[in-house]
Amino acid sequence: PEVPVGALLAGSARRFGERTAIHYAGRELTFAALHERACAFANALRAEGVGRGDVVAIHLPNCPQYAIAYYGTLLAGATFSPTNPLLPPPDLAAQLADSRAVAAVTWAPAAPALAAVRDRTVIRLVLVTDREQALDPTHRLAVDGMVDFEAFHGDAPTTAPVVDIDVHRDLAHLAYTGGTTGRSKGVQLPHRNVVVNVLQYACRGSGSLPALDGEGGVVLDQVEPAEEYPTRLGTGVAIGLAPWFHAMGTIGGLNVPTVTGATTVLHERFDPAAYLADAERFAVTGMSGAPPIYGALLQHPDFATRDLSSIRSISSGAAPLPVEMIKGLQRRLGADVVIAEGYGLTEVTMGATIGPAARSAVRKVGTVGLPVPDTEVRIVDPAGDDLAALPVGEPGEVVIRGPQVMVGYQDRPEDNAATLVDGWLRTGDIGVLDDDGYLSIVDRKKDMLIYKGYNVYPRDLEELLHAQPGVAGAAVVGRPDLSAGELPVAFVVAPGADPDALMEAVNAQVAPYKRIRELFLVDAIPVSAAGKVLKRELRERLQKDTN
Ligand code: ATP
Repeated sequence: PEVPVGALLAGSARRFGERTAIHYAGRELTFAALHERACAFANALRAEGVGRGDVVAIHLPNCPQYAIAYYGTLLAGATFSPTNPLLPPPDLAAQLADSRAVAAVTWAPAAPALAAVRDRTVIRLVLVTDREQALDPTHRLAVDGMVDFEAFHGDAPTTAPVVDIDVHRDLAHLAYTGGTTGRSKGVQLPHRNVVVNVLQYACRGSGSLPALDGEGGVVLDQVEPAEEYPTRLGTGVAIGLAPWFHAMGTIGGLNVPTVTGATTVLHERFDPAAYLADAERFAVTGMSGAPPIYGALLQHPDFATRDLSSIRSISSGAAPLPVEMIKGLQRRLGADVVIAEGYGLTEVTMGATIGPAARSAVRKVGTVGLPVPDTEVRIVDPAGDDLAALPVGEPGEVVIRGPQVMVGYQDRPEDNAATLVDGWLRTGDIGVLDDDGYLSIVDRKKDMLIYKGYNVYPRDLEELLHAQPGVAGAAVVGRPDLSAGELPVAFVVAPGADPDALMEAVNAQVAPYKRIRELFLVDAIPVSAAGKVLKRELRERLQKDTN
């Protein structure tokens, strides 16, 4: 698909024009209006001299202005670089300096933090907006040194600018890894990567990529044999809570609904009661997000009482979805609802695998499904340089090859040499393939513990903890130990539970070397904004505890 990302929105504006693209706190934006606003934003950027080769940072929570600024940046030929609006100032300064963004779009509550670090960046234009402006575009903001977002582009021409984009070289996204295991790294993703990865997920496990029509619109009909799929093209209503500053949000939450003509019900932050109320009110057909969201929904009393009969599909990614949660969701929503888990990382734009969407397909609970079209997944020796495939069923490091694999990390030649080998991406994740090609993620290489020479995968223990009654969250990390190497220690959210009994119940089911040696009951497990357990924080807690 040799079109730039902006063509996907243009295609949807032609095809689904008057259908609502975004519902946000009572305001609606159609696909045609979103395209018009994005074109105006692109023209305004170009009038300021921002275009090809320039990076625009978007520092916003999910809101309609995000979609306008995102597509506008890409239509202008510039590169989109998302920042988490809750990043602490030193990390924000580091990321903005690393990305060399020349312009930024921010949200009034986040503006002071951005202003405070601006002199450490090369940003020359900051646009500011807020929630009120999303509801009333005539509302104006006056922030020192920043330009009102609506005033900036409100009167700009709404025809698409003509820009020469090299889809293989020009970066659409300069996205940063989650920083779960260390400092986040800038990942270079040309337009081709983004378009391909969107289509790989929009085709919903059909095995082949949908074609594009002459004008860049997606022809999805060919992958949609009626009842086989949970929702028909142009009829879906998605409620997405993956933040758009993360790959799962930008690709799965923003672009996939765009090409499939699904309406997105937007919330800028996760509030289970409000989310469930809107799921009922808008007759939502699909939910997507990271596992902690499903954990919170399953715990919420409204999950049992709201009418959720419109839901046809659920997708999860970014972190393991415990099997107990899948069973809980399936029990509540019914056996007909397709629950698909996907797997990926920022380095592959968003994803490499997904559970099949077609009702007739074989679903394997606990796996992350099959590779998306044009993608190869292989399991190799995690310790060596040899990328030969290990036998089926043997765990090893997951490596990925496909058109969605990044060009490289920005300014990190050593990381590139270690990560990109002969066209394969080394993921740092341990996984296993079965006879039918379904992938299971065992754990992250960095999270694996070694007890007296035996490998212990925390995820196995976490799954067993989740299966105990009353357990709402669990994470296992290693405590360094002079004689054993590392000892498994569990942090568990289970109000009122007896920690010794919990530990015993799990230990009775595992080999002696895997036994949990200590178990702490906690109020919450620390998770990142993208929904990943922050194990380094738990390890730090253990260390403080020892000192
Ligand atoms: P950093 O690389 O900076 O530490 P990060 O790994 O959080 O950050 P992301 O690209 O956001 O960066 O996350 C990718 C990682 O998320 C994968 O390498 C994998 O460990 C994990 N992951 C994603 N999907 C799944 C899944 N379905 N099951 C288990 N783990 C998953």
